[in-house]
Amino acid sequence: MMPARGFKICPNCRFAWRDRDHFLRDESLTIIGYQANFKDLRAGILMFNHSCRGTLALPVTCFEDLYIGPVIQQRLTGTEACPGYCFRKSRLNPCPNECECAFVRHIITLLKNKQTHKQADEKDARLHGPDNRGVVY
Ligand SMILES: [Zn+2]
Repeated sequence: MMPARGFKICPNCRFAWRDRDHFLRDESLTIIGYQANFKDLRAGILMFNHSCRGTLALPVTCFEDLYIGPVIQQRLTGTEACPGYCFRKSRLNPCPNECECAFVRHIITLLKNKQTHKQADEKDARLHGPDNRGVVY
């Protein structure tokens, strides 16, 4: 039986991630979007694709502790310095501005890097043969 409670359940295939670590380490997930909530940045939504083609939405609050940089008070959205990334869901670029909104983009970069590392690991495993593979999921 699947546990009733966990970190997240895929709305498509019903796969359950038991905790965030499990979710972060899952190679079948890809971050695909960020829907900013300008009234409450922590309530913004991060979107992930699951390998089953399902899409998952999780609020920024689920990952906010991954950001350990300074808290910035000023918001530059709409100013000349602002590249406007937060207005475009599929823009996952890091933002260099000292802006209140930028911490979410740090988190996105972190999540993306995890995926890149996973891909690099996979390439590595292919190069060196299957013996180097770690845990099989
Ligand atoms: Zn799924």
